[in-house]
Amino acid sequence: TDKARPLLVTGGAGFIGSAVVRQAVARGLRVVNLDALTYAACPANVASVADSDLYTFEHADIRDRAALDRIFARHRPGTVMHLAAESHVDRSIDGPGAFIDTNVMGTYTLLEAARAHWQAEGRPDDFRFHHISTDEVYGSLGTDGLFTEDTPYDPRSPYSASKASSDHLVRAWGETYGLPVVLTNCSNNYGPFHFPEKLIPVVIIRALDGHEIPIYGAGENVRDWLYVEDHADALLTVAARGQVGRSYNIGGNAERRNIDLVRAICGILDEMRPAAAPYGDQIVFVADRPGHDARYAIDASRIRDELGWKPSVTLDEGLRRTVRWYLDNEDWWRALMTRDGVGKRLGRA
Ligand code: NAD
Repeated sequence: TDKARPLLVTGGAGFIGSAVVRQAVARGLRVVNLDALTYAACPANVASVADSDLYTFEHADIRDRAALDRIFARHRPGTVMHLAAESHVDRSIDGPGAFIDTNVMGTYTLLEAARAHWQAEGRPDDFRFHHISTDEVYGSLGTDGLFTEDTPYDPRSPYSASKASSDHLVRAWGETYGLPVVLTNCSNNYGPFHFPEKLIPVVIIRALDGHEIPIYGAGENVRDWLYVEDHADALLTVAARGQVGRSYNIGGNAERRNIDLVRAICGILDEMRPAAAPYGDQIVFVADRPGHDARYAIDASRIRDELGWKPSVTLDEGLRRTVRWYLDNEDWWRALMTRDGVGKRLGRA
């Protein structure tokens, strides 16, 4: 990609987008962060780069074509990394509309703005539209098997269906209009700045606050976990060197049953912030999430073999860093607990 042209990151005030922004600036790349600042955004996540000459913030919604056109014309990005989305599965079950609006219509609008910009620039070969998606588009696995890039799509929640739709749009814009697209599908991320309503922060916060720690069903669901800084590194690798038109699966090589993950977090807390009783005593089992996928697991051999990328942080090490970060940054997550609908998920069930 053209070094002189900035990277346009959508959703850069969110969890993963902010990790991409911080790493990109650290590597000396010019970055434009486009974010609508929804309930899930947190400008503090990018405070460490806010004063850098390499960094610009654009407050805009990806559904607003006129705003996108102005931003593309002003910054003339060489690469778009598209992370802006509604991202929380439980919220997609309670209210799917916002997921269709942002993840489907928003991606469509961004694709059209990117295509107009790319055409106006003379269709440069080195332009990239990098779409960031999830392994949840592949549906659910049994006890064996792994998702590859060729696994048929079988989304089962409103969230994953909206992300699958956006993936199809991106591929279609690549095939139909020749827009140089690349896609990644990643497993569950975790790490510093993870929004407090997500599983790992919920466990840490409820443990510390002396509340019950709810686990869906019997806790048998298996997820693969990837440390967010490793994901950001993988994304910058794919944006720079990924082959046009290709998808890359990204995983952490760290499958865990939810119950084992939660017990591991409680064990780390017992060590770092000992309480009267082990935190594991607070675990309770609650009615399962409707349509809860049994298992996700990733075959990440393509990104390893083609681009030489593999995760660098083990789950045990990543969990320790994450728990440490939550213990040291209580002001950050306490402030977010007053946001729309978040306290409800963290209060006594
Ligand atoms: P997040 O919810 O933390 O952040 C999303 C960001 O997008 C927020 O800053 C929000 O303000 C912004 N945004 C939402 N709607 C917008 C709109 N209409 N216009 C402009 N900005 C908007 O999400 P995340 O967990 O960082 O996920 C980022 C991306 O990665 C998403 O596309 C998600 O589907 C994908 N993904 C996430 C995971 C995960 O484990 N978190 C795993 C795989 C893929």
